[in-house]
Amino acid sequence: MIEPTVRPLADLAQRDHDVIVIGGGIHGCLAALDASRRGLRVALIERDDLGGSTSWASHRILHGGLRYLQSLDFARARASIAERRWYLRTFPDLTEPLRCTLPLYGDGLRRPLPFRAALTANAIIGARRNAGVPRANKLPIGTVARPSDDVNPHARRDGLLGFGVWHDGLIRSHARLTMETVRWIAHLGGMVARDARAVSLRTSRGGVTGVVACDPATGIEHALKSAVVINAAGPWCHELASAFDPAGTGASSPRSIAFNLLLDRPAPNGAQAVSTPGPDGHTYFLVPRHGMMMAGTTHAEGDAGPSPAHVRAMLDGLNRAAPSLELSADDVLRVDSGVLRSIPNDPAEPADRAVIVDHARAGGPAGLVSLSGVKYTTARADAASAVAFAVGRRRLVHRDRPPADALTRDLNLTDPAWARRADWDAAALRALAEREGVRTLADLMFRRTEWGQDPRGLEALGERVGRALGWETTRIGQDLSDLVQAGPPAGPMSDPEPSAEEPATP
Ligand SMILES: Cc1cc2nc3c(=O)[nH]c(=O)nc-3n(C[C@H](O)[C@H](O)[C@H](O)COP(=O)(O)OP(=O)(O)OC[C@H]3O[C@@H](n4cnc5c(N)ncnc54)[C@H](O)[C@@H]3O)c2cc1C
Repeated sequence: MIEPTVRPLADLAQRDHDVIVIGGGIHGCLAALDASRRGLRVALIERDDLGGSTSWASHRILHGGLRYLQSLDFARARASIAERRWYLRTFPDLTEPLRCTLPLYGDGLRRPLPFRAALTANAIIGARRNAGVPRANKLPIGTVARPSDDVNPHARRDGLLGFGVWHDGLIRSHARLTMETVRWIAHLGGMVARDARAVSLRTSRGGVTGVVACDPATGIEHALKSAVVINAAGPWCHELASAFDPAGTGASSPRSIAFNLLLDRPAPNGAQAVSTPGPDGHTYFLVPRHGMMMAGTTHAEGDAGPSPAHVRAMLDGLNRAAPSLELSADDVLRVDSGVLRSIPNDPAEPADRAVIVDHARAGGPAGLVSLSGVKYTTARADAASAVAFAVGRRRLVHRDRPPADALTRDLNLTDPAWARRADWDAAALRALAEREGVRTLADLMFRRTEWGQDPRGLEALGERVGRALGWETTRIGQDLSDLVQAGPPAGPMSDPEPSAEEPATP
């Protein structure tokens, strides 16, 4: 009998917990992991599927914080390097070095001399960047390449002075990174449930006593008990904090959308930055994704969309930044988007600092902590701070990730090309689906594996997977429409342009 890593919500109501974490994105998963590694009994609840919201849309770059050197923020650069190292060291099977190249056109830091100086500072700050990292994931120091060096073939050539070249990390599969984190939490005795929406906070004499959670499909509620609750609900963090502590949370921040385009172009060699002309040119990173090209990230005001007009505006920007791509709407295979907290005086600019609120300090319920993070890269550190706020500093008693198991070894979960060729071990596939709480084909192909990452031929692949799982034809048929819906947003790509020039961030 295989021990489940994802359990029904009812199971979590059967015992008292030391900490309940709300939200199964990267911040919630790593908060639950941090508390588990400190020897606490943890419950993690996610209202939908684990890792399926903002975290799923990430560009997957583990940033070493080179950009923070521009504002001389050495502390942040050092912290980012440490967090990048943590991923490269802890998940060597799911991460890899990513060579990044930035064309230098002569503005500010983007000139060969200042860039070389920044790389030197980065090498000093990052002297321990490879400590404990397996050989294959060790990162070399950066350099400046000549314009004639063929390191970034899509960059505009006019005014080109050279290229900044450095290394960051790339997450090969964030679906597996989420599920491996969940497996680790379960291994340490934590309990994880999906389809478990936190609806109210229970308190007694000013302190937290637990959370009422419900399965959105059945409406059945369960009371979970704990004196500590960490709200890590991502873009919905403030709403939940206001519901749980109406007097204490203050004004909410505006929100913005962020999105990337999966393009029908060959994968670039590493992350290649391309910028639109001019001193305020926008920069996009072209990043490899399973033989295709993922381009991003674009930010826009509001929390709806992106609309076809947003997508078109990004394609125009990409064509100005990298004319050789010659992109049209037909080249967009998928749009991955998420909602981010943005800064109050510029609603299209994403916030760049995590916010952690210990509600008791402002007269709210004791034991309630809210965590709103800003980067996948720094999620572990911010999650650890939130846990420390909630339970005080505690010793790390469990260091190591549990060893890989036969089930995940038997199935190549991180390779869409393998899935198309594979003659699966159907029993292993069924066992994995059962252990990891798979309910739909989209769960399995997007959030347990990388198999759905290539949208081409997805329907046929989904049908084969459904049959291998032993599912009825009608169930497979219903699920297939969810799978193919993950394409570009519906509607003509010739919608009016959005009014604001779209800003992009490196
Ligand atoms: C397009 C894009 C590209 C990005 N690229 C990068 C990158 O390359 N590198 C990087 O470091 N960062 C990147 N980021 C930022 C990073 O992805 C986010 O900061 C991070 O994923 C946010 O994680 P989270 O856990 O806070 O939120 P989420 O992943 O949204 O998780 C919050 C979870 O809470 C759940 N929830 C909400 N309410 C409840 C409730 N009442 N009960 C139970 N569960 C609830 C939601 O369903 C959700 O799953 C990118 C973001 C976007 C959008």
